[in-house]
Parts: sequence; structure tokens; C-alpha cells
Amino acid sequence: ALTIAIVGLPNVGKSTLFNALTRNQVLAANYPFATIEPNVGVVNLPDSRLDTLAEIFASERVLPAPVSFVDIAGIVRGASEGEGLGNKFLANIREADAIAQVIRGFADPDVVHVDGAVNPASDMETINTELILADLQTLEKAEARYEKEVKGRKLDPSVLETAKAAAAILDSGRPLSSATIDLEPIRELGLLTAKPFIYVFNVDEAVLQDQAKLDQLAALVAPAKAVFLDAKLESELIELDPEDAAEMLASTGQEESGLDQLARVGFSTLGLQTYLTAGPKESRAWTIHQGWTAPQAAGVIHTDFQKGFIKAEIISFDDLVDAGSVAEARAKGKARMEGKDYVMQDGDVVEFRFNV
Ligand code: GDP
Repeated sequence: ALTIAIVGLPNVGKSTLFNALTRNQVLAANYPFATIEPNVGVVNLPDSRLDTLAEIFASERVLPAPVSFVDIAGIVRGASEGEGLGNKFLANIREADAIAQVIRGFADPDVVHVDGAVNPASDMETINTELILADLQTLEKAEARYEKEVKGRKLDPSVLETAKAAAAILDSGRPLSSATIDLEPIRELGLLTAKPFIYVFNVDEAVLQDQAKLDQLAALVAPAKAVFLDAKLESELIELDPEDAAEMLASTGQEESGLDQLARVGFSTLGLQTYLTAGPKESRAWTIHQGWTAPQAAGVIHTDFQKGFIKAEIISFDDLVDAGSVAEARAKGKARMEGKDYVMQDGDVVEFRFNV
């Protein structure tokens, strides 16, 4: 499953945010066969198109695409040297598809800051330095192994060269995500700074309404994406029914909850998109990578759909809404039969034809 690891200094609000994520029990309700692990939180990707489809098809239920978050305990200065949770902790993030770094922006004098003062720029630097050091250690160990293997002609020298080039970038204090070299040959190392990053600023309600301040924080992390939320407010929102939650959000000047934003930004940072299926049983969003073909997309529903793929009948969401029904969309020539090479587009409403 796709996972986004949550990292950050102690006392920045990770647990508070994570509790909001896990109490958001959508997965338990909608996906009865999914295993729920205590350190995994799930948010539905908000998608109003599903409600529209559910109306057209009179669907019994709506199933949005889930985005999973894994909680990993706090990082401290020296983590790469084995202080605090050290290497075991770092090994856990290696498996994640992306990293969400929580940064404290709230002022509360009752909550101690590990470094004595709230300073987003310096917190980011502490974490990023630890991640860079951890990657350097990984590379050092790998290089020793690669050198032996290259000597023994068991490994292509380009792998060793890539490792050396990556180490040089890290040595200059830069994360690998800023590199222009192709890291594919050393992908197996799961280097942390090569992963896509999202920055989550945990701020006070007042800051959420202060655009100048938000712009300033966003500039700190650009071109990476920033999400702004108030973890305390999020944990309160999750306790309310949807209407009350919407009202409370509106009173803070926001249109969308922080968890919803996090799901959306996480999704796009991972290079994902959805396609839609609809019928009387359910209207559902399925997660695929951008650029996937129709058979690959079919494989997300069932591997047999991919193996036995014949063709896909596709109506784009807007055309379907215009037509009002599948029959009418067909009559208007808006239903397309697509073959094996078709590249899926966002908002495709699909019915697969396959051999069993
Ligand atoms: P963690 O160590 O990063 O997991 O941080 P916690 O989630 O345990 O939060 C540390 C303390 O900060 C707790 O007392 C939280 O109640 C408090 N806290 C977390 N988020 C916020 C916030 O957005 N605003 C304020 N004022 N306090 C917060």
C-alpha cells in the first residue's frame, strides 16, 4: 500500500495530527477486509464527483480513494548517530513512498520546544540535516559493498558511480531530491532525501487566516508543497458530525480541513490520479499512477481484469454529467471503446471488458 511517513521534531504536534488521522475511521467502515494497523492512519481523498455519480447511478455507497499515513516516532538531533531512536527509526522511513515533515508553527508557551524557541526554518534544517547524514551513512556502507562487487565483476560500475555522485550531492548539504542525476541504479537503498517531501506546518488558528504569514512559510519549502493546519483544531473537527465540522471550519476561514488538504497534496506529490467506476452498488475512485494504461488500471481492481483485459468503455466524467446517463452518453457518441495502449485520464468513468 502507498504510505506517507510522518516525521518531525518532538512536541511539534505529530501525535495530535496522527490521532486525528486514525480516529478518522473511514477505512474501517468502508473497507471491511483491509487490515488496520495501529500506526497507520487513513484519509479519504475528497472527491465531489463521486457524489454526483452516486446520484446518476443511485449507488448504495460511495468509496473514495484512501491515502495512508504511517506514524514514526520523533526525530531528534543526532538521530543519524543513533541518538534517540536512531537507526531503527530511520529504517522505518526507508519503506515509505513519501515523507511528510511536521513543523511547529504554533506558539503555545505551555508546550516546550526541544530547541527552546519556535523556529520553523531551523527545525526544518535540523531534520533535513539528519536525513542527509542518514543517507550518507547508507551510501558509505553501500559503496564498500559495491566496490567489492564491481571488482568481482558482479556489478555494473555505473551503480558505484551513481552512489559516489549521490554522496557528493549530500556532502554539499543538499538533499537528493534536488539532484539532476538519475538515481534509479541505487533505488534499492531507499534513500530518504530522494523521496518526495510534503511540509506540514502545524500553526495556530490565527495564522491560518494570515495569508502573508502563510506565504512566508510556503516560501521556506518551495518548490516542495506546504500544507497548513492546526492539529488541535483537526482533532476537534474529527469528533463532529459533517455539518458541524463544516460550520466550525468556515468559522476559521477555511474551506477544507487540514486532513483533506493533506490527502490531496499527498496524492499529487506521489504522482497519483484516480479513475472512477459507478453502478447501483457503489460509486468508487481507484488509485493509479499518472500515465498508466487501461490494462494497468484494470489490474488495480483485480489482477484477472488486467490479464484478461479486452477493452475499456470510457466516458469522461463531464460528458457523463452532461448526458445524464450512460445510455444517453452512448447515444451521443460520448462513450469510447479504448484498447490496451490507452493512457488513463483523470476523471475517466470506466467499465472494463475482460475474459475470465
Ligand atoms: P509530538 O511530540 O510531535 O507527537 O507532539 P504532540 O502531538 O504530542 O504535541 C505536543 C504538545 O503540543 C501537546 O501538549 C499538544 O496538545 C500540543 N499541541 C499539538 N498541536 C498543537 C496545536 O496546533 N496548537 C497548540 N496550541 N498546541 C498543540
